[in-house]
Amino acid sequence: MLDTLHRIVQAVNKAANLQEALSLIVGRVRESIGCDVCSIYLTEEESRANVLRATIGLRDEAVGKVRLPLGRGLVGLVTERAEPVNVADAPAHPRYVHVNDTGEISYRGFLGVPIIQSGRVLGVLVVRQKETREFSDEEVTFLFTLAAQLAGAITHARASGELDELTGETEAPNRFLAGQPGNTGVAIGQGVVAFRLSDLNAVPDRPCEDSQAECKRFREAVSEVEKDLRRLQASLDEQLPAEDRALFDALLLMLGSDSLVNHTLKQIEEGQWAPGALRKTISLHAGVFEDMEDPYLRERASDVRDLGRRILTHLQGDQPQHQEYPEQTILVGEEVSAVQLAEVPREKLIGVVSAAGSGSSHAAILARAMGVPAVMGVTNLPVGRMQHRSLIVDGYRGRVYVEPTPSVRTEYERLLDQERALSAEVEAMRGQASETTDGVTLPLYLNTGLINEMNSGDQDEAAGVGLYRTELPFMIRDRFPGEKAQIKNYRRVLETFAPRPVFLRTLDIGGDKPLPYFPVEEQNPFLGWRGVRISLQHPEIFLTQIRAMLLADVGLGNLQIMLPMISSVKEVEKLQQLIQRAHDELMEEEHAVRMPRIGVMIEVPSAVYQVEELARRVDFISVGTNDLTQYLLAVDRNNPRVADLYDDMHPAVLRALKMIMEGANANNTPVSVCGELAGNPLATILLMGLGVHSLSMSAGSILRVKWVVRSFSMSRARQLLGVALRMEDADQVRRFMEGSLDDMGLGGLFRPGK
Ligand code: PEP
Ligand code: MG
Repeated sequence: MLDTLHRIVQAVNKAANLQEALSLIVGRVRESIGCDVCSIYLTEEESRANVLRATIGLRDEAVGKVRLPLGRGLVGLVTERAEPVNVADAPAHPRYVHVNDTGEISYRGFLGVPIIQSGRVLGVLVVRQKETREFSDEEVTFLFTLAAQLAGAITHARASGELDELTGETEAPNRFLAGQPGNTGVAIGQGVVAFRLSDLNAVPDRPCEDSQAECKRFREAVSEVEKDLRRLQASLDEQLPAEDRALFDALLLMLGSDSLVNHTLKQIEEGQWAPGALRKTISLHAGVFEDMEDPYLRERASDVRDLGRRILTHLQGDQPQHQEYPEQTILVGEEVSAVQLAEVPREKLIGVVSAAGSGSSHAAILARAMGVPAVMGVTNLPVGRMQHRSLIVDGYRGRVYVEPTPSVRTEYERLLDQERALSAEVEAMRGQASETTDGVTLPLYLNTGLINEMNSGDQDEAAGVGLYRTELPFMIRDRFPGEKAQIKNYRRVLETFAPRPVFLRTLDIGGDKPLPYFPVEEQNPFLGWRGVRISLQHPEIFLTQIRAMLLADVGLGNLQIMLPMISSVKEVEKLQQLIQRAHDELMEEEHAVRMPRIGVMIEVPSAVYQVEELARRVDFISVGTNDLTQYLLAVDRNNPRVADLYDDMHPAVLRALKMIMEGANANNTPVSVCGELAGNPLATILLMGLGVHSLSMSAGSILRVKWVVRSFSMSRARQLLGVALRMEDADQVRRFMEGSLDDMGLGGLFRPGK
């Protein structure tokens, strides 16, 4: 049966459209199960009916005509229960309804399985038998597995509007494809499928006759790609900060690398033709990146494949085709690469949608730098059918609407208008003090790292840098950066902000951030060797970093050192000793270093319970709500399967914050929040009410959060917090905060988002 299943699935995947897939399934299922009838009903939510869409055994004319109201009959029972219903003698069942239009005589055996996607019933797959028959467990699971395949095909058809054509529906709301937010914002425009490059995987092995000529051909193709990349890089000069343009340097470096070029040349010399040799090299290199645990580095596999396809295009003598871009281009691709994105004229690019990738893909990073809304990882995206389709990109919620209905369109046009009006209002906050209506100042700091999200306007707005993630410069190298390279890096950020404070966080690798040159194989990386746990076992790495930080601070004096992932008092004491040692050694070496303020991050439940003891030992506390939420709720912050359980407005997180404030206040230790919660305008009032001393967030959030700060008094914030702390679930808290912002005319700050 497994074999049959496999063959049906393959045939379904090749079907030209949904109707063909449905007809194919009913035919093959009847044959393999040996039943009299096989039918597929699709559930139409709007008309609340299960509609017969394909059958073998019932009358053909019934297709599209038979509509069973949702609660009716055994088919209705399957939808209702979202479980298989297996009845040997259907007419004897209390829910049985005889349907005349289907040409139904008296079928007795009935098995219906639901077609489910993401918890929603999309339809029912039914088999019938004239005689009484109880279908076997094996037959039930067989249909179940097929139904799961069908769910994918239905979702595709729905996304491309094909299902609407089939059902004649025009006004179906909430029909969208889900992905991950890549960059916030809304775009309404026309899909342009990213220029399809040559298919490297389809290249066969072939011997070459003249390996010298073949090597030359390969080198020429590489140099053509290099020219293309340099041209694109130059065209972005004006639009992107230097660090983001450096993505192209990384690609050029990869292109010129020994491993890519020499590995291919070696195979050509051994007798393989250039395209075949290239395919092997690219697959090997992409595989290395794909096996990495860190999402940022895993994404580099797509850059390698993109380079491979570009070289192949030139090898095949193709000139990259000229693509016409409409005024409102939304770039769509299987795996949109940074280069494809850069190929679209900047003034025409308004959105990005990628079937693969995540928020840390280069394409998403570039989209953020360009301020273009993006949705990544839209796994059900039928890319091939997206050319010139009308699309809406909702970068707040990670949604894509294909051929949106007039009502969805109107709704998003309204949102766009609101966004424009909102940005004017938000912009009005520029240069204003971050001060409550009763005169309490709440300093707002920036979170930053490798990618330079900051333009000088944002830099001016910030009270300093509240979190500098030092691991990011470590992650893009092939070995640990030395003292000098680190000094240069830290000096740049300290200097940019001096005399404002800059909180440099010591290396927080491990968990979801492994270094490619420092492999850590673990079953539970988030509960394993990460953050200061590595620093303590590798004092040489830690000391080099501290020395670099202290030296970078000479003459400036705005350095603050922050220790991540602290779970016990001992860790802090040992790390403080190491910092003192680095300081003393540098003094002995006659450097005019100064002992900085040192603080800890509270990100682990044990640290919440020991906050008083920790506060006593340090100069400041910074709460990492991203990890704290993950550890309090036992929800992996990167796992999409449990993403709906991850909520940093969960009452448990709020209560933990309250405990942290009490413990820190008992010792007069200032507390900052630097997780994503700090940049969420819905949480601002709560954090104000808690008495948090400062917030640190990404550049895009500062003005929005400031608007909230300036709209409320401290006493009102405390009152609202008191109410929120009595609530029992996150949705309740969120709704309450939405209401509170709405009352002050700040609804626009959250409405486009969730
Ligand atoms: C956090 O955990 O909230 C935090 C700020 O650190 P990171 O997101 O870098 O783990
Ligand atoms: Mg953290």
